[in-house]
Amino acid sequence: MPASPATDVIVIGGGPAGSTVATLIAQQGFQVELFERERFPRYHIGESLIPETYWVLKRLGMLDKMKSSHFIKKYSVQFVTATGKHSAPFYFHDNKPHECSQTWQVRRSEFDTMMLRNAEEQGVRVHEGARVLDVLFEDQRAVGIEIAGDDGEARQVRAQVVVDASGQSSLLINKLRLRVSDPLLNKGAIWTYFEGAYRDQGRDEGATIVLSLQDKQGWFWYIPMHDNLISVGVVADFDYLFKGRENHAATFAEEVENCPALKERISIGKQVASVKATKDYTYRARQAAGDGWVLVGDAFGFLDPLYSSGVLLALKSGELAADAIVEGLRNGDTSRAQIGKWEASFVEGMNRMRRLVCEYYDGFSFGQFVRRFPHHRGGITDLLIGDLFKPELDQVFEDIEAVKC
Ligand SMILES: Cc1cc2nc3c(=O)[nH]c(=O)nc-3n(C[C@H](O)[C@H](O)[C@H](O)COP(=O)(O)OP(=O)(O)OC[C@H]3O[C@@H](n4cnc5c(N)ncnc54)[C@H](O)[C@@H]3O)c2cc1C
Repeated sequence: MPASPATDVIVIGGGPAGSTVATLIAQQGFQVELFERERFPRYHIGESLIPETYWVLKRLGMLDKMKSSHFIKKYSVQFVTATGKHSAPFYFHDNKPHECSQTWQVRRSEFDTMMLRNAEEQGVRVHEGARVLDVLFEDQRAVGIEIAGDDGEARQVRAQVVVDASGQSSLLINKLRLRVSDPLLNKGAIWTYFEGAYRDQGRDEGATIVLSLQDKQGWFWYIPMHDNLISVGVVADFDYLFKGRENHAATFAEEVENCPALKERISIGKQVASVKATKDYTYRARQAAGDGWVLVGDAFGFLDPLYSSGVLLALKSGELAADAIVEGLRNGDTSRAQIGKWEASFVEGMNRMRRLVCEYYDGFSFGQFVRRFPHHRGGITDLLIGDLFKPELDQVFEDIEAVKC
């Protein structure tokens, strides 16, 4: 089997995590080859960004592109209870009066393509239509990959570091049996798109709305996008959503009936896409790195999308991994200890988001909590914007626990 000459870093997957890690390493003058099995633009779910993506987008050189895009601006998130009561929107700007507090609702096929082209502009060698078949190991160290070439013949490429950013395909999680599921968050989702459905006006036009089902079994997301489209999806326990309910379109329609506030919003719109579903829910890898390999984004772990944290976690893990890899390449150290040194603090932040997700499913009311602990409004907003990586936020959870006792 032909082997190509070695490069510094191989990245598997050209989603937000892969583009981020590749771009930031290439910016430092290292050779990066990125292999993406699809040809972009390709469809992807996950359309609502949260404000802390700003800082990584800035490092990537993406901010001007985002500002001049047609993506709808998002300033807040709003919750609707099972009885249809609307919380006051959590305006990100109230907590952080900075332009970073405005973010975007994106069509992922467009956003991911912008990110990938941006990577190319900054020196990443991008190969589309290139499916990675395997990661190659020698003495338990990753040394390269095997890819399927256009001619159908397998080819090897070697590198000092292999980054797995293959999303929920989780190439290395599967190969090394690293997957740990999260029994508390064994959920699923069913979603579609509506044209011409209800939109709020002014700065609320782009708000993400999270609407509880009437019987509290789950919730709907309502994400207004450009071209007059709204992304609408229901999330609930796996068994509730899928057991004995084989027809996803019928289930979606039944759950619309189970959420009058949502039904009212979409009643003036027209469904313009078929219904999609995912059963692959919250999981995490046992470790984020080994000698010569690193996992980023969904290839490391996926968290329930309640607070739209997926792209942020993809960008953030991509950024932290890139910095550790660059330092390692400079020092000639691509051991697990070096290139995975970011894991512990990243997981702490991810756990804070997970905790907030679990509290919601446990019946936590943002409105009530903030009325009782007004000084925590900032902390709650920090969590919602994705500013997760600071230990002082743990005080919020202590008081959430106290309320429960
Ligand atoms: C129902 C649902 C709703 C969501 N809503 C949101 C939301 O509102 N906001 C948000 O931020 N996040 C959301 N997410 C999460 C978000 O979609 C992901 O966290 C995000 O896409 C992760 O980015 P990534 O780069 O890690 O993976 P991906 O975006 O999945 O990219 C991985 C890439 O790897 C490629 N690939 C896979 N296997 C191979 C291979 N063998 N060889 C080469 N290439 C390969 C794929 O083609 C893909 O392009 C949601 C997720 C779900 C399931």
